[in-house]
Parts: sequence; structure tokens; C-alpha cells
Amino acid sequence: MEEVNVLVIGAGVVGLSIAKVLSEEFEDVVVVEKEKSFGRHTSSRNSEVIHSGIYYSKDSLKAKFCVEGNKLLYDFCEKHNVPYQNCGKLVVATSEEELDALYKLKEKGERNGVQNLKIIDKEECLQLEPQVKAIKALKVDATGIVDTHSLMHQLALQAEKNDAFIIYDMEVTAIKKVENGYQVSFADGEIFQANYVINSAGLFSDKIAEMAGLDISNLKIHWCKGEYYKTTKIKNIKHLIYPLPDPKGISLGIHLTINLNGEVRFGPNAYYVDELNYAMDETYLDDFYQAVNRYIEVKKEHLQLDDCGIRPKLQGPNDDYRDYYIQEESANGLPNFINLIGIESPGLTSCLAIAEYVKEIMKK
Ligand SMILES: Cc1cc2nc3c(=O)[nH]c(=O)nc-3n(C[C@H](O)[C@H](O)[C@H](O)COP(=O)(O)OP(=O)(O)OC[C@H]3O[C@@H](n4cnc5c(N)ncnc54)[C@H](O)[C@@H]3O)c2cc1C
Repeated sequence: MEEVNVLVIGAGVVGLSIAKVLSEEFEDVVVVEKEKSFGRHTSSRNSEVIHSGIYYSKDSLKAKFCVEGNKLLYDFCEKHNVPYQNCGKLVVATSEEELDALYKLKEKGERNGVQNLKIIDKEECLQLEPQVKAIKALKVDATGIVDTHSLMHQLALQAEKNDAFIIYDMEVTAIKKVENGYQVSFADGEIFQANYVINSAGLFSDKIAEMAGLDISNLKIHWCKGEYYKTTKIKNIKHLIYPLPDPKGISLGIHLTINLNGEVRFGPNAYYVDELNYAMDETYLDDFYQAVNRYIEVKKEHLQLDDCGIRPKLQGPNDDYRDYYIQEESANGLPNFINLIGIESPGLTSCLAIAEYVKEIMKK
């Protein structure tokens, strides 16, 4: 039986960030990942946006980690040559009825400590983005885009430089509390004994918590799919363009993002699913067409299926908004077991701030 000090389950952007940060101070950090490489799930199937933190309720973990993580992520990218662009974004109001929500969004962002938020009028908006239809917009300078694959590659590299190990093809199948930690079993029959276990298993984080014996009746993950369409017909967009967010907090609305090559795509939509299936279909094409044409003109035949991701949401279809669940489980009889459940957007932006938070929990 292999003995390790800190076992991190999941090599998505969050698990890798945790490995990078913990390996700076803790001995013997090991990441186990069921796939053949890092980031095969949500961390490589997202909008690649470095969010500012305007959307989340004050004092929520999402607000705290997004605002802190935004800066940490830009610094990390700069230091380790991860391609990124601080392009900024415009949240657009396309009718008078939306203006109130636009101003409220600005106030929310300011309460969270987001700097340089500015409401701009139609003329300024047209100067910045001549193709975009808006009567006013909230200009958010802190927003950017990042190459998520390079980011994860660098996080893994930095963790390994600190002597952390990342082991692929290692699917956790059972977890048993023992006297001095946890015995973690894998699909191939191997067993590791760990002093600390950190559950960063994304879409399966509730199942991992359940394996350890936690009551997950209030921690069930609901899978919520988000698809993207792309177009080659729109060019020369400089900012990300967002509609106002869905008031129930399910999604940020079908937005326009550019990648680092300036290519345009739209998404994600949001609908709950029962199976982990990344196949795309055209069922929602009309929804995309209508949502996008509210703020920029594009022909339906110029929208092409792109890709999709699945959100690990604590918020079920009829539930109120839920924050992240990040907790050391001594109170539930599982000392030194840390669960990270419901790490949906802005999880990419927040990855390094979440990792710092986990480190603080472990040092207490
Ligand atoms: C459509 C969409 C758009 C998004 N856009 C953005 C955005 O623009 N900006 C932003 O900040 N955030 C965004 N997010 C959120 C962000 O992508 C996630 O919060 C983040 O990627 C979560 O990372 P993770 O490491 O927690 O999860 P994951 O990337 O899912 O990693 C978890 C890992 O655990 C592994 N695992 C699971 N079970 C086991 C097991 N039993 N044994 C071993 N390994 C296991 C999985 O294989 C996986 O690799 C978006 C999400 C979606 C779905």
C-alpha cells in the first residue's frame, strides 16, 4: 500500500491549482486523476473567461474567490507565459426595460470590490464595438480570456517542480476512514493511505464525498449542460459581449466570446441533463439565433455547432441560487478530508484563490 501525505482527487484546473499551491508548503502531494491526462472535463469545456466578480452576492465564496482569483490568475499567466488577454467586456442592455438591471449589476460588482466599472452610452459602445447593438452597456475592464490548456499545463509543471506527483488512469472507487487518515481504493485494485484527502472531482465530487461516508442529501450535484456555436462571419470584435444574466442565477446568458486568435463563438446555453454526454445536437439552434441577434446580427446559417461543457451545480432545476461548498469535514467525523463541491463558474477564474483557501484550512 502506497502512503502519501496529501491526496488530491481530480486533475482539473482546481485540483492542479491546489497541488501547485500545497506543494509549496506540504510534503508528498499526489494528484490522482481517472482520465489519461488533465482537464478532460469541465476545465477544458468552458468559455475560458477570466471573470471580474460582478455577478455574485457579496460575502459569497464565489464573489470572494472570483475577485481574488482574477488577480492571482493574471499574475500567474504573466509569470509563467500562459497566453491570456485582458480584453475587457461589455454587458449590454438592449431595451429600456433592462437598464435597471444593468445599473444594479454595476452596484453589485462595486460591492464586491471590482474596480473600474463604468456605464457607457450607445455612442461610446458603438465606438468600442461598431457591430454591437446596445442602448447602454456596463464596461468591465478586469475581464479577460486565457488559454486553459496552457494554464493547466503550467499548473501541473509548477506542482511537479515542487515534487508533487500527478498520476493518471487512477479512478477512485472507495474511501475508508482509518485511524490515521484514509484508505483510498482505485479501479485497478491499488490502495493508497493518505493523511489528507482533497476532493476536487468536479462532476463527481458528490459521489466522492459519499464514498467517504458523508451525507450528501443536500450536496447532490446537478449536471447542467452548456453548448456553444461559432461563426466565422463576425470579425474584429475586441471585447467579450454579454447580455444581462439570467435572474435565477442558472447562467450568465448566451454571450459572445473571442478566443486568443480573435475567433468568435456564442454560448453557453443551460439545461439540466442526467447523463455525461458531450454530444451536440441542433435542438437549441433557434434559441441561440434569437439570443445572439438581440445584441449582434448573425444569420442562422452562419452559426455552426462548436462544443459543450457540463456544469457541476448544487443548484437543481427548481432550487434557489447556491454557493460553493468548500469544507474540512471534522464536524462530520472526517478530519483532514476537504470537500470542494459545486465548483461551477467562476471556478476557472477562482482556481488559485480556492487553492490558497484550501491551504489556509489545512494550516489551521
Ligand atoms: C459551459 C461552461 C462554461 C464555463 N465558463 C467559465 C468561464 O468562462 N470562466 C470561469 O471562471 N469558469 C467557467 N466555467 C467553470 C469552470 O470551467 C469550472 O468551475 C472549473 O473548470 C472546475 O474545475 P474542476 O477542477 O473543479 O473540475 P473538472 O475540470 O471537472 O476536474 C475534475 C476532475 O476530477 C476527475 N475525477 C472525477 N471523478 C474521479 C474519480 N473517481 N477518481 C479520479 N478522478 C476523478 C475528473 O476526471 C476531472 O478531470 C464554465 C463551466 C462550464 C461547464
